[in-house]
Amino acid sequence: MFKKLKKFYYTKILHKKYYRVGACKGCGRCCKQIYVKHARGVIKEEKDFENLKYQHRFYTYLKVTGKDEIGLIFECQNLDKETHKCKIHKTRPGICRRYPQEEIFGMGGALSQDCGYKLEPIETFGEIFDQVQKEKNKKTLWQKLFSKK
Ligand code: SF4
Ligand code: SF4
Repeated sequence: MFKKLKKFYYTKILHKKYYRVGACKGCGRCCKQIYVKHARGVIKEEKDFENLKYQHRFYTYLKVTGKDEIGLIFECQNLDKETHKCKIHKTRPGICRRYPQEEIFGMGGALSQDCGYKLEPIETFGEIFDQVQKEKNKKTLWQKLFSKK
């Protein structure tokens, strides 16, 4: 019963497709390899990043450490390099508290292979297949009814 309620809440109320499972191992990787995406895509030039700093305090913590084919790579300056812990853990921004959210997939991101979290699909393949079949059957029925006229 609890499982069903949880599933209903996640899929119908929160409109989620994945459950976040696991726990943080404190490796600090997600604070080191950061791409920043905004309305016009992933930030590729530092001049485009400058304006974002006024939009959210999270951006003020970031420092460019490199660039690849995706865009600029940032590292958060609040990460303690020796302990891999966040120096402002208690007051860290919401985006860090909620990490990882499934939205990162939609933005072209991915979890690090060693991350202690996993995002697991809420609906199994079988359930999705059944739903597609039902929709298909419904359409076929309507087509049949319509063609009888
Ligand atoms: S504020 Fe803390 S948790 Fe957030 S990215 Fe920086 S170091 Fe990581
Ligand atoms: S990459 Fe995953 S395990 Fe490592 S600090 Fe980030 S959330 Fe935690």
